[in-house]
Amino acid sequence: MQQLNLPINLEFVSLRPSSGSNKEMATKKYHILAKCYDKKGNLLAAAFNSYTKTHPLQAYFARKVGHPHCEYLHAEIHAILKCRGKPIHRITTERYDARGLPANAQPCPICQEAIKALGIKIVEYTK
Ligand SMILES: [Zn+2]
Repeated sequence: MQQLNLPINLEFVSLRPSSGSNKEMATKKYHILAKCYDKKGNLLAAAFNSYTKTHPLQAYFARKVGHPHCEYLHAEIHAILKCRGKPIHRITTERYDARGLPANAQPCPICQEAIKALGIKIVEYTK
């Protein structure tokens, strides 16, 4: 886990699929798990990304950073929504490759924008 403190530098790599990789994205190997914690370290919510569910909050931040076609729920935003307005202190994202080893789950610009807007202090992700 690499820890970042906000404000986040914006050199984040987009998780947006390049053209032709939609089929690959639909396989389970790109599933990312996000977890939100409060200040005391209690788990508030955990959620996966979805390739079928949409939400206005996802659409809002996708538009805001110029990726309006990224309408399906990302794990981070899904987890944030599950917190139902409770203050989130830390968010973690994790992804594992076919061998079960940690893989890059750095939040994309859309989720970074949401994380920043919500004032979440700590972002951690597998690399
Ligand atoms: Zn995202």
